[in-house]
Amino acid sequence: MFAASVVPQERRILTAIPGPRSQQLMARKKSVVADGVATALPIFAASAGGGILEDVDGNRLIDLGSGLGVTVVGNAAEAVVRRLSAQATRFTHTAFSVTPYEGYIEVCEALAELTPGDHAKKSALFNSGAEAVENAVKIARAYTKRQAVVVFDHGYHGRTNLTMALTAKNMPYKHGFGPFAPEVYRVPVAYGYRWPTGAENAGPEAAAQAIDQISKQVGAENVAAIIIEPVLGEGGVIEPAKGFLPAIRQFAADNGIVFVADEIQSGFCRTGQWFACEDEGIVPDLITTAKGIAGGLPLAAVTGCAEIMDAAHAGGLGGTYGGNPVACAGALGAIETMKEFDLNARAKRIEAIMKARLGAMAEKFDIIGDVRGRGAMIAIELVKDRATKEPNPEGASALAAACHQKGALVLVTGTYGNVLRLLPPLVIGEDLLNEGLDVLHEALDGHV
Ligand SMILES: *Cc1c(COP(=O)(O)O)cnc(C)c1O
Repeated sequence: MFAASVVPQERRILTAIPGPRSQQLMARKKSVVADGVATALPIFAASAGGGILEDVDGNRLIDLGSGLGVTVVGNAAEAVVRRLSAQATRFTHTAFSVTPYEGYIEVCEALAELTPGDHAKKSALFNSGAEAVENAVKIARAYTKRQAVVVFDHGYHGRTNLTMALTAKNMPYKHGFGPFAPEVYRVPVAYGYRWPTGAENAGPEAAAQAIDQISKQVGAENVAAIIIEPVLGEGGVIEPAKGFLPAIRQFAADNGIVFVADEIQSGFCRTGQWFACEDEGIVPDLITTAKGIAGGLPLAAVTGCAEIMDAAHAGGLGGTYGGNPVACAGALGAIETMKEFDLNARAKRIEAIMKARLGAMAEKFDIIGDVRGRGAMIAIELVKDRATKEPNPEGASALAAACHQKGALVLVTGTYGNVLRLLPPLVIGEDLLNEGLDVLHEALDGHV
């Protein structure tokens, strides 16, 4: 099996959700954890593995969230636990910038092998996705000697000061936290479902608008980097309409702009390919990764053309913990698991199951305006009226709460708060996945 943990792979609800022990812990949380650190579910985790998360009251929930898309290989994956335990007994930290170690090199070798393109590549490792994105901007600015950064509507890139500026949505990510970093410019993205002239026109029209805005309002020669998620996760699992990404990528190449694919959520088998940009044959100049990379350990990377990566001066990149040896061991275990169990194929199978089931639900329930996504990154967008497409965030919250009560963990996201996002671990059993979708169906039946 994939998992070192022994959590039985079955849904089980023993108490009200939240149960008494979770309620006690929540009371303690309220007194010592800052209110800004909110939780989507009021239950506390006790153990997790495969497709199940068990709480402190013994309830077992079907995990359709993967801890925000992180545990691609499932929780406590056998190879992750084996490798990180061995590393932890040898040493837990030396600081790569003081005394380097082999695991860091091995992760960078794996990134060079797995990321798109067969050009010479190098990487730098960090702790979080936001830190990787920040460093991609530093590297692009050092390489181009330009300052402007272009990002897109509905984009999400993190919560640090620079990445808040890069992120589109105000609440909860940015509200009251400004001023934000300058020289950040936002342009349209090809959001097919909401494109005014229809999904079939979204790709070319949005690309033309974005390129026109960059050219007229920023000046292509001032742009260091264009940063885009090949599938926009937090913004609502938006797949840019076909043709959009290739057009933007070409524009970047024609104008000496570093094209950065933020694959922090979409990377590492999540969409059924090692990286989502492969879907349209895109080879980015730089690629940022985190989330799925290390089976739950904090690790992130910037990977790209050796020439661009080398533009930052010696000592210009780094940090105390970046590429921690235990996290690197976890990453090597996660990558081993992805290869050994062909998790790209698993993601495609999960897509087939989810798309068929959700498509059938969309025929029955008018609240579902759109079913979309790739691999194990699938979402339904909920609307009050299919004709006007008015977003239905209340419906999304009610549906998610009903799923939680019945023992399935789903996530709400989207610029309008009306998207239900399904990001199961790729090792989830098919029976369990189907049962999770049964729960969603029941919730739709009861709530709309
Ligand atoms: C989650 C996410 C980030 C930020 O990663 P953190 O590890 O939370 O800092 C950046 N970009 C994308 C696309 C993400 O999904």
